[in-house]
Amino acid sequence: MSVRDAAVARLREQVATLHGELVRYNLVAWTAGNVSARVPGHDLLVIKPSGVSYDDLSPATMVVCDLDGVVVDGDLSPSSDTAAHAYVYRAMPEVGGVVHTHSGYATAWAACGEAIPCHLTAQADEFGGEIPVGPFALIGGDDIGKGIVATLSGHRSPAVLMRNHGVFTIGRDARAAVKAAVMCEDVARTMYLARTLGRPVPIAAEHVDSLYDRYQNVYGQSGAPVGTA
Ligand SMILES: [Zn+2]
Repeated sequence: MSVRDAAVARLREQVATLHGELVRYNLVAWTAGNVSARVPGHDLLVIKPSGVSYDDLSPATMVVCDLDGVVVDGDLSPSSDTAAHAYVYRAMPEVGGVVHTHSGYATAWAACGEAIPCHLTAQADEFGGEIPVGPFALIGGDDIGKGIVATLSGHRSPAVLMRNHGVFTIGRDARAAVKAAVMCEDVARTMYLARTLGRPVPIAAEHVDSLYDRYQNVYGQSGAPVGTA
């Protein structure tokens, strides 16, 4: 097996398994939602097939596409969101994983066109400030991808709330992007509850900075990848 084929096989397995996390954390309904991974060193991505039940996903059903979204290997059609994932990989070389969901609380903020302000230390840790809103964009073509990249470039947040649509997250690998999607929904839910109780209290900007710095650089087991604990 070539190095490339070995990497694709490993990522087929990882991406298939990570879709189970979307179900486990209640981030998806029916077949909505998808995870992809870049194949490092090759202009390829591995992504969920379109319209297949989460119970039926396996390494073999994952689809391999080039970074224009054209299928390279796979028996099924790729996710209808593949163009958006591919655009992000083309524009952001540091990104190794992308996730999309319509998770309920985060998408409620997207429906209101409102960024989630930073009132929680856990949000400062993971997102480094507010979770921003991206533009309204129709599926098909590059509009969604452009909106994601325009919003997240130069932003600390690995998550964007695409207006009237849902959540896209990025990470250095697919697992990190899934984690950001889980944390985004958790923050969106807690901030929704806080709003119903009263007026949430802001965290001073310098405290947001120090929380973010500590979590991104110090937190976790020494030697382990950041954010794995
Ligand atoms: Zn969607």
